[in-house]
Amino acid sequence: MATKFDVVVIGGGPAGYVAAIRCAQLGLSTACVDRTIGKDGKPSLGGTCLNAGCIPSKALLESSEHFHKIKHGYDSHGISVSNLAIDVPAMIARKDKIVANLTGGIESLFRKNKITWLKGAGRLLPGKKVEVKFADGKPAETFEAENIILATGSAPRSIPGVHIDDDCIVDSSGALDFTEVPQKLGIIGAGVIGLELGSVWARLGSDVVLLEAMDTFLAMCDEMIAKIANKEYTAQGLDIRLGCRVLSAKGSKKKVAVEFEDQGGAHSITFDKLVVAVGRRPNTEGLNCNEVGVLLDERGFIHVDEVCQTSQPGIFAIGDVTRGPMLAHKGTEEGIMVAERIKGESARVNYDTIPWVVYTSPEIAWVGKTEKQLKAAAREYKVGAFPLSASGRAQAMDETTGLVKVLADAKTDRLLGVHIIGPNASELIAEAVVAMEFAASAEDLQRIVHAHPTISEAIHEAALAVDKRAIHI
Ligand code: NAD
Repeated sequence: MATKFDVVVIGGGPAGYVAAIRCAQLGLSTACVDRTIGKDGKPSLGGTCLNAGCIPSKALLESSEHFHKIKHGYDSHGISVSNLAIDVPAMIARKDKIVANLTGGIESLFRKNKITWLKGAGRLLPGKKVEVKFADGKPAETFEAENIILATGSAPRSIPGVHIDDDCIVDSSGALDFTEVPQKLGIIGAGVIGLELGSVWARLGSDVVLLEAMDTFLAMCDEMIAKIANKEYTAQGLDIRLGCRVLSAKGSKKKVAVEFEDQGGAHSITFDKLVVAVGRRPNTEGLNCNEVGVLLDERGFIHVDEVCQTSQPGIFAIGDVTRGPMLAHKGTEEGIMVAERIKGESARVNYDTIPWVVYTSPEIAWVGKTEKQLKAAAREYKVGAFPLSASGRAQAMDETTGLVKVLADAKTDRLLGVHIIGPNASELIAEAVVAMEFAASAEDLQRIVHAHPTISEAIHEAALAVDKRAIHI
């Protein structure tokens, strides 16, 4: 007879592993199926985020930022360093160690919570069953489940005419494992991944060219912030070319020839390495959704309602494989919500207060609506902005490029969006998220005491500016 669990989670990324832990905490017998094989050739938990996404990219962003700052950023402090060098294999080894620590950490959390880790690929069978094909070649086994959570994540999208050869032409995972700094690096797509990985290698000395299909840079961001970012990244050496349609890329003899066209006509450009970062697609292939009646939406994501229930009772979908932003923390919160709902609680995710972060330098972070979205919705709003050039702390740090913008409802004063570009924006945005979660007004932010001197004062000042009463501008 098949082994039966209260919950079987398919996918052990930040959505799936957190769902499994929360289920186990709530006393549900839980198994988590995951097929990822780590860089050491062994099964590894943590999904894309830990193995080939958020964490490794942040490790490399950190290393490369130190290198870049020592090389270019300390002159004004009176600090100069000679004979500076980057040991790329050492930098990559540090990144791999962080990944191993964290993925190993999840393994021990699974042991502690008595979660059964099924190392292989899972697929749905009718009657709430999951078949697992084990990575070590053991015969496939079928498990029964009272509830199934699909958390299979996403994979890099490809484009016609460009074949990932994992040598000269790589996807975002490959760009985390270069063994040396490519002299000329091409990146297709100037989205979040393109900009973060482009920043890493540009800081270490690559000539980076980003070929972006859209005419607008960082279209999902506040327009003013996208403009500042474009100027800043360009000054850092990123050659961002908008409105480019890539026709083909061919790798030969350690070079890649890319054909593309823009308004000016057809062009050809040669790189040492090419990264394809044109978005990600949901991992639903081989999951058997159609056969068991789990509906997909028109874009291929698993169709769910607002509490992640699929079209089949007892089967849920969370994280990148379903609608909404492809952000680890969105999937994590969905995982917790679904676990608690399975247990009979009434948890929900507030999709209006999910923070976004781009980990470039300066960082970009925002929560809530942009001005463009508010205009499109014909919502009346007030704006307050404060430039970091007027912040004492930013001047002391020598990091005055940036801005905080606060948007509030014209009638009720309720916060509608907060947008930041500047140092530590990824951490600063938490204040705005908490404020919005508690339905704060601009006046609430105005009356909160902010420590001096900190960059967070810029949030305070931007909130004051909403009512034209900023002090330092
Ligand atoms: P993205 O959607 O952010 O950017 C992809 C870019 O590629 C877009 O600007 C798009 O216009 C462009 N593009 C698409 N097809 C193209 C083509 N044929 N030629 C040239 N350009 C083309 O996607 P991404 O950067 O690949 O990231 C994937 C997902 O992962 C995103 O949803 C992102 O939010 C998420 N992610 C988030 C973070 C973070 O939160 N910091 C980091 C990495 C990834």
